[in-house]
Amino acid sequence: MATASTILVIGGGISGLACAWRLRQLGLPVLLLERSRCLGGIIDTVEQDGFRFDIGPQSFTNTQALSELIGEIGLNSELLLADPRAPRYILKRGRLLPAPLSPPRLLLTPLLSGRTKLRILCEPFRRSRPPDADESVATFVRRKFGADLLANLVVPFVSGIWAGDPEKLSVASAFPSVRRLEERYGSVIRGAMTQRREKGGNRPSLCNFRAGLKTLAAALATKLGDSALTEAEITAIYRVPAVSPRFGVTYRLHGTTQSLSVAAVVVATPTDETARLLNAIDPGFGALLARIEYAGLAQVSAGYGLEQINLRNAEKGLEGFGFLVPRSEGLRLLGTVWNSSLFPGRAPQRMASFTSFLGGMTDPEIASYSPEQISAIASSELSSVLGITGAPVTQHLWRWQRALPQYNIGHQAIVSALRDLSARTPGIFLAGNYLAGPSIGSCVEHANEIARNVARSCSAA
Ligand SMILES: Cc1cc2nc3c(=O)[nH]c(=O)nc-3n(C[C@H](O)[C@H](O)[C@H](O)COP(=O)(O)OP(=O)(O)OC[C@H]3O[C@@H](n4cnc5c(N)ncnc54)[C@H](O)[C@@H]3O)c2cc1C
Repeated sequence: MATASTILVIGGGISGLACAWRLRQLGLPVLLLERSRCLGGIIDTVEQDGFRFDIGPQSFTNTQALSELIGEIGLNSELLLADPRAPRYILKRGRLLPAPLSPPRLLLTPLLSGRTKLRILCEPFRRSRPPDADESVATFVRRKFGADLLANLVVPFVSGIWAGDPEKLSVASAFPSVRRLEERYGSVIRGAMTQRREKGGNRPSLCNFRAGLKTLAAALATKLGDSALTEAEITAIYRVPAVSPRFGVTYRLHGTTQSLSVAAVVVATPTDETARLLNAIDPGFGALLARIEYAGLAQVSAGYGLEQINLRNAEKGLEGFGFLVPRSEGLRLLGTVWNSSLFPGRAPQRMASFTSFLGGMTDPEIASYSPEQISAIASSELSSVLGITGAPVTQHLWRWQRALPQYNIGHQAIVSALRDLSARTPGIFLAGNYLAGPSIGSCVEHANEIARNVARSCSAA
């Protein structure tokens, strides 16, 4: 149980779990408290009628920090790698066209007009400098390549990654590597090609685990053992003046109120909860955190018999990552992942499974629809794209009012103000997907950094 030197981690999503694990590896006593019944936060996997559906993320890119973590907790043998050449499709006038993911393909794709291709061709020779002010993704793309590329390529990808609105998302915060390319090379395409030559051009593989993404949280939970408690909701954090340990915490464990004293607190919860928890420490946190918007999302996972699918309009049948939908297609689907084509063990023999996403910043009304309405829209639109006849064999729906934090214009300024405020509040550390990137890999990398900061501050105290 907790002692005076314990580091408390609040929130058992991947950010909190990875931070608690790293703190433990650095030799610090740690206690993680998670409000819900399970660890993993957004990440979960359900088994239903012989199908395996991931809730939330469907795969991850294996970054160095994530790869180290997976090795440390003994999951290398459970790892699945998708074929990095698996095509991604974009819907255009009802047909699935391969997404052009390299400069030569950009020049050949029927997704873009001749005029746009000419701009792409000329871009390496027209040096530009990003403006000093934060720029939206949409403004950046229009400035460099025009509205056609924005509508037909960038908007679908932005929906797929961020569920975001390109008119609001900040290119420097949401796609920092793109901004750096322009800063360094004056050209995004020339910069990308130079870096590709220098670093090797292989596209990173998408990964999952044999038993689904829940495996990651489950393995961390096992490793943390008694140091991670579920159904333990933090209700208040307060400073204990002139006393070490510095913070008092009250929490409800299985319905009863308890309290403890800890040396430091890592708050790894979404912004609304972080603001509430830190209000007594410094209301300045809440004022900054309130400026970060979230996109709501609905996810519909479904299974079909292969005989129900008559997919004639994709290059390689059902081989591939899935498809993304430009808004001009007039559908509510943002995109669909072809789970059973990406990873084995997702569907029974002669069956296929798909996960579709709806809502996001460009279609917020979806959040107010009933589950039946959402499921009907997802089924009918997926059927029209993939030529499916009949109802799904099984279906699983999930909704988040606050799914993904949006790195909109001004995000960098908010994050650096939060960093300054944390630095002026010794013993309080922030982790979570709103700070250094929402992907699982970014969350783990940031959690490691925070754990190292905690260790440094403890050794300095
Ligand atoms: C639909 C969707 C699809 C995604 N797809 C991908 C993908 O394909 N690849 C990828 O890499 N990433 C993807 N992501 C992003 C990634 O999954 C998340 O950014 C990441 O899992 C967030 O982890 P977290 O720990 O920061 O937050 P969360 O998972 O939100 O965890 C926060 C935890 O804090 C707990 N908590 C809150 N308040 C309290 C309290 N008072 N006391 C105790 N506990 C509390 C919550 O219960 C929760 O468990 C996706 C996200 C979504 C929503």
